[in-house]
Amino acid sequence: MTGNVLKVRELCKSFGSTKVLNGVSFRMTEGEVISLVGSSGSGKSTALRCVNFLETPTSGEIEVMGDAVSAAVNHHGKTETEIQSAHHIRNFRRRIGMVFQNFNLWPHQTVLGNVTLALLHVLGKNKRDAKEIALSALAKVGMADFRDRYPHQLSGGQQQRVAIARVLAMSPKIMLFDEPTSALDPELVGEVLRVIRGLADEGATILLVTHEMRFARDVSNRMIFLHKGEIEQDGTPEELLRNPASDAVARFLSSVMPLAA
Ligand code: ADP
Ligand code: MG
Repeated sequence: MTGNVLKVRELCKSFGSTKVLNGVSFRMTEGEVISLVGSSGSGKSTALRCVNFLETPTSGEIEVMGDAVSAAVNHHGKTETEIQSAHHIRNFRRRIGMVFQNFNLWPHQTVLGNVTLALLHVLGKNKRDAKEIALSALAKVGMADFRDRYPHQLSGGQQQRVAIARVLAMSPKIMLFDEPTSALDPELVGEVLRVIRGLADEGATILLVTHEMRFARDVSNRMIFLHKGEIEQDGTPEELLRNPASDAVARFLSSVMPLAA
């Protein structure tokens, strides 16, 4: 269907005998911002990691931009992902950018080095183009002046902004954020949320896991509540807050947003 950037169908993931995701399905249209919320251990990170193929789904299907890059279908005990070529998966992953809780910058590369690396080695850009793209991404997150610094010379908030620039530079179709501010000192959270808000305002398609519920409510078109590996509610933030679909949703929201009602 037109406008669908991401389709996740019946996504299941088990680790050994532990079922972590149990039939998760949702779609994202272009420019949509979805917050994936739920208590710790509900499967949020695993869901993001499956969307990006950092984890191989046990079964289900993931589609990006209508491309039939069907992920893993449990077929006769063997996953499609095992059959699909590494090239195919790489191609798929290139359309999806992921920002992690702990930044994951390369410690021995400068800021500019961190942002150009994949441009050079994954996208095959020449040095001059890579630098130009990287500096423009760094400017967007307010970090261009720090291009020659190393990660350890930056605050956590600055490192996370560089990590966001690194993703932006690749022009992904979707950006995934897994608790991008939870490793930060409280006074540094705002600068990272402002960058994410700016991307959302510019029309980026964003799937965000966060405990910053007020931010999630304000920035998201939809909120998906995950509970024990299943989607318990999928609606606008107002719908979840006004009409929680279950006790689990209500309990979670009142614990993280006690003043919301
Ligand atoms: P959330 O991000 O919502 O806190 P996770 O997706 O990290 O939840 O984890 C969901 C469940 O899956 C947890 O019980 C966790 O222990 C388990 N889990 C996650 N990754 C692995 C793994 N690599 N091996 C085994 N169990 C895992
Ligand atoms: Mg997590």
